[in-house]
Parts: sequence; structure tokens; C-alpha cells
Amino acid sequence: MVTSLEKAAGIAFRSLVPNRPYHVQWMVTRKCNYRCKGCNVWREQDSRELSTADIKKGLDILKKLGVIEVVLSGGNPLLRDDIGEIVDYASHSFVTTIYDNGSMAEEKIEDIRNADFVAISIDSLDAEKNDYLKGVKGAWKKAMKAVDKLHEEGVNVVVSPTISQFNLYEIADFTKYFLKKGIPIWYCLYSYDFSEGSNQLFKIGKKNDEFVITDRKAMVKLCDFLIEMRKRNSNILMTQLRYLKPLKTYI
Ligand code: SF4
Repeated sequence: MVTSLEKAAGIAFRSLVPNRPYHVQWMVTRKCNYRCKGCNVWREQDSRELSTADIKKGLDILKKLGVIEVVLSGGNPLLRDDIGEIVDYASHSFVTTIYDNGSMAEEKIEDIRNADFVAISIDSLDAEKNDYLKGVKGAWKKAMKAVDKLHEEGVNVVVSPTISQFNLYEIADFTKYFLKKGIPIWYCLYSYDFSEGSNQLFKIGKKNDEFVITDRKAMVKLCDFLIEMRKRNSNILMTQLRYLKPLKTYI
């Protein structure tokens, strides 16, 4: 984590900019080593990537626009050879989070050490269920090991699940489990764009009937649980807590 007076002052100054975007998620690669069921990225991989210099230029533009928080995602951003340089550059100006599906964070720990948060994606406490969702055998074991290792090494690791009908009933226990271990849970409140073909803007989500939340009552109950838990525990992180309340009516 980079904590400098210059960074803090820059963030404080940018937060005064009126009508600025707050949060940006940047897919720095479309390459991925996993095969998640609800994802389109690995089905449509693309080896073209912006150069390191172009990414830095982009980050400079985001800074000028007043952005505070940057999430580096993909694909798996850790598949980029220059990811350490990108993380370091971003971390000097933004609250920076980097995503990993749990497969590479341990081996690339020195590259990601300066991020403010390393988000490891885990969707279930049930290894088999998690591996089914990720499309890779052994994914759960590897991700859990990475979380422990990063935590031990003093890296700010957080766990980030994707909520779906598949894991809806276990999210409360999942949250409590990691909080008990002192690991924050990060609920990144994005919704997927499931449009088909060329209409799909970012080509991220893959429509999957298994994931569609059919038990709306349970989802509303979960939102209430998270809102209440969040009041008592600052280790529950959310992109924007205020979105949870309107989300309940949308469901
Ligand atoms: S959800 Fe993330 S980890 Fe899984 S296949 Fe898609 S890009 Fe890769």
C-alpha cells in the first residue's frame, strides 16, 4: 500500500472537484486463465492490450478527471508482465484495487504489494461448488491459500464473491467466516450486461440461468443483513453502500 502525504493530499483535492467520476474499473487485459460459468471474457479472449505507457497516460487522464478509486481487472490482470509497474503507478495517485481469481496473487506478491487492496474472487465456502463456478479444479484451494498467505505477509487482501442464486443462501455465513478470520469482504456492486452479440457493451457477462436470482425475498433479506452488518463492521467494504437500499426495490 502506498501511503504518502502527496497521495492523501491529491485524493483530498480531487474529492472537491464537482461532478467528477468517483470509481473506475479498468479491464487491463482480456486474457484469462479461468473459465468461470457466468463470464464471457475467456470465451472471447483478445491478446491485444494497451502498452504500459498508454495505461499510464490513461491513469493520468483519470486523475485529471478527478477519479479517486481505480480497480484493475480483466481477464486476469496478473497475466500482464508489466502489472507490477501499473500497480505501482496507479497506487501513487488512486485508492487502487487489483483483482485476482486466486491463481496468481501468491506468485506475484511483490508486484501487487503496493496496491491498497488485493481482491481475491471466491464464491463459496464449498470447494466443489466454487470450482464448478470457476471452471477449474483446485481453484478454491489455491484461492484460500493465497488469501492466507497475503494476509500473513501484511498485504491488504479482501475476498470478493459474486452473488447469484447459486450461493445466495450461504453469503451471510460466508461473510461471517471471513470476518472472523479478520479478512474484509468486498461487495463490488456492479450488475452484468447480459445483452447478446454486438449489443453487449463490454462483453463481460454470459447469461446463465443457474445464476439468475429467483428467490427475491432471500435477496432482499440478504441486503438487509449486509446493511446491518456494515453498520457494525468496517471490514465489509462496498463500492457504494447507498446502492444497496435502492437495489432491494429493484429486485
Ligand atoms: S470471471 Fe474473471 S476469472 Fe473468471 S473467467 Fe472471467 S475474467 Fe477470468
